[in-house]
Amino acid sequence: NTFAEIDLGEALNQNIRRCKYVKPTPVQRHAIPISLAGRDLMACAQTGSGKTAAFCFPIISGIMKDQFVQRRPRGRVAFPLALILSPTRELSMQIHEEARKFAYQTGVKVVVAYGGAPISQQLRELERGVDILVATPGRLVDLLERARVSLELIKYLALDEADRMLDMGFEPQIRKIVEQMDMPPPGVRQTMLFSATFPKEIQRLASDFLSTYIFLAV
Ligand code: AMP
Repeated sequence: NTFAEIDLGEALNQNIRRCKYVKPTPVQRHAIPISLAGRDLMACAQTGSGKTAAFCFPIISGIMKDQFVQRRPRGRVAFPLALILSPTRELSMQIHEEARKFAYQTGVKVVVAYGGAPISQQLRELERGVDILVATPGRLVDLLERARVSLELIKYLALDEADRMLDMGFEPQIRKIVEQMDMPPPGVRQTMLFSATFPKEIQRLASDFLSTYIFLAV
């Protein structure tokens, strides 16, 4: 089992080699083909399982396949194609750093926005164009209220550490965010939900946000 056997494209495979990843981890081995096939996914994954790559690879690969069809205007309002929601500033920064390595020389632009830091620099970054936005829920709601980000073109949504986001009280913000993506035609958005635990609240999120999905426990 190697990454080369998964159809991620040459640019991404080169970056995977640069990262010195040789073999996919169990969550990657199963989640990546499911996502590449266009299916929604709810995956049980702990920290250290390699879940970041599991949701980043299909997103980057998907954007590379359609970015030329989907060139968006740049300006005051940013129109990301993918959104990765994470509970904390630290985790967002980590995901951003990894995603940037994975997207190196692919033309896919990754921007991060988290709370507890001045918004001005994040706004400048967003103005320069964004394909994948990594964000914490509170800061993203702020950006939406300022009309500096539109979620109209979101095609890929990843919720990382969903149980932790709910524990931190982010459910209202998450619902507000996802509501803004539910634009017609239905079924265009692909959603991946990652969580270490699966209490009722997470199952409810999954049934509200995901279309007929595959449940993965590794
Ligand atoms: P994560 O669970 O996404 O936080 O990843 C945990 C750590 O494992 C990170 O330092 C990754 O860079 C690393 N990692 C992820 N996937 C692989 C892989 N297939 N081979 C080697 N290291 C990996």
